[in-house]
Amino acid sequence: MSPSLPLPHPPGWPELSQQPTSLFLDIDGTLVEFESHPDLVRATDGLILLLQSISSALEGAIALISGRPLHDIDRVFQPWQPFAAGGHGAEVRGGAGTRLHRPDSDQLVVARAALTDAVAKLPGAWIEDKGYGLALHYREVPQYEGNAAALVERVAAASNGTLEVQRGAYVQELRPAAFDKGLALDELMGQLPFSGRRPVVVGDDHTDEAAFASAHRHGGISVLVGPRDDTVAQYRITDPEAVRGWLTEILEEVFP
Ligand SMILES: [Mg+2]
Repeated sequence: MSPSLPLPHPPGWPELSQQPTSLFLDIDGTLVEFESHPDLVRATDGLILLLQSISSALEGAIALISGRPLHDIDRVFQPWQPFAAGGHGAEVRGGAGTRLHRPDSDQLVVARAALTDAVAKLPGAWIEDKGYGLALHYREVPQYEGNAAALVERVAAASNGTLEVQRGAYVQELRPAAFDKGLALDELMGQLPFSGRRPVVVGDDHTDEAAFASAHRHGGISVLVGPRDDTVAQYRITDPEAVRGWLTEILEEVFP
């Protein structure tokens, strides 16, 4: 791989605190490392305490933005129930309450059946049913990437525009076409405690690019995690461990 586009390390608290700040964090590949199965991911007590402490420093203006459904975000971070956008924005829990997406069930039933049929021929790949969408995972059988991509493209094309393909790391997802992480950020920024604060968005995947662009529209800052170069992000952090280190430094600067 060619060397990554040089992007600076994101600023610390002395600069961030010059304006009221809000923090929007992706979960997988950003706050926590990937596991072989997404159900194996669980936040440590230390990470939860770190995020809760930063939340109090930001007067509650911290939210998790993930492809995971809200109920799964809550499983990863239990007993903490943070503000969050789940399913790439299909579900949002902000200061104004919780909005859940009611999917077009006919299209999903057809898509679920088509995927289930085809995945039987890709041993080791499996389907995660998110309720409003479907994810085809193949982390254990990466040789099926081409098959998986072609399969979800075919199912999306048959969905009358209701489902869109979202590529991730060893996952091809069919999500409602009406949502993305950028719209989720717009929605949360319209609610307390986020409104009027400068958003700082941190994420690793292509799904986070829409949130980066939204952060810029709101006068905010974008931080990419990892070596990817096709990005609009302004800053870069190497990996989840370094993200946790950056957050720890911020906390030490807030409460020296
Ligand atoms: Mg991620």
